Amino acid sequence: MAPTIVAIDGPSGVGKTTTSKLVAERLRLPHIDTGAMYRALALKAKRHCISFEDAERLAALAASSSIDFVPGERPPRVILDGEDVSDAIRTPEISMGASTVSSVPAVRRALVRMQQELGARAGGVLEGRDIGTKVFPETPHKFFLDARPEVRAERRYRELAAKGAEVPLETVAREMEERDRQDSTRADSPLTCDESYVRIDTSDLSIDGVVEAIVGRIGA
Ligand code: C5P
Repeated sequence: MAPTIVAIDGPSGVGKTTTSKLVAERLRLPHIDTGAMYRALALKAKRHCISFEDAERLAALAASSSIDFVPGERPPRVILDGEDVSDAIRTPEISMGASTVSSVPAVRRALVRMQQELGARAGGVLEGRDIGTKVFPETPHKFFLDARPEVRAERRYRELAAKGAEVPLETVAREMEERDRQDSTRADSPLTCDESYVRIDTSDLSIDGVVEAIVGRIGA
């Protein structure tokens, strides 16, 4: 029997990571945060002084990188070439960098292949932007999370503040808007939702409410 794949796509700040982690626990599946993989590559590019727009060098970097997750950890730890980079990839600079490197087609090809291999091992709850359109388009379990822009900015602002980062709300909102615009308008695999997805507006729902809606639909 083919392993169960749950696709959770949507823009930033809709609660994809928390929701995916909980859904994965409920369904006893690995949680695969594909955004963390683009972030890890952006971090590596920065460390090697490679421009986020240098397609050729980025493609070579992606092909020679190993990115994995530590199973069973909460939140899942991200391992880049053997190093735990889970905290280093969660900065505003790397968020924007990830969005820029992810628009390079050769980078997407390399990382999509890695994501398909990870999912084929034991199934998974995969969160990202193109899981239901490109990575596992054949899965019947596709969810598109969305929320009002001000709710999303406020959530990300609180997340950063909890980590001690003093970024004004207006800056968070502006950067988020810029990143979502870039993610939705790029030529290769833009963020889109079609009729194969179940769309959930998380603005006025609790995390538990979103998790129940997803698990209930899958019928677990
Ligand atoms: O989900 P997260 O905010 O961590 O993703 C960081 C960036 O990686 C996104 O803004 C997007 O540009 C890119 N991404 C992508 N495809 C995915 C997951 C993330 O292009 N499947």
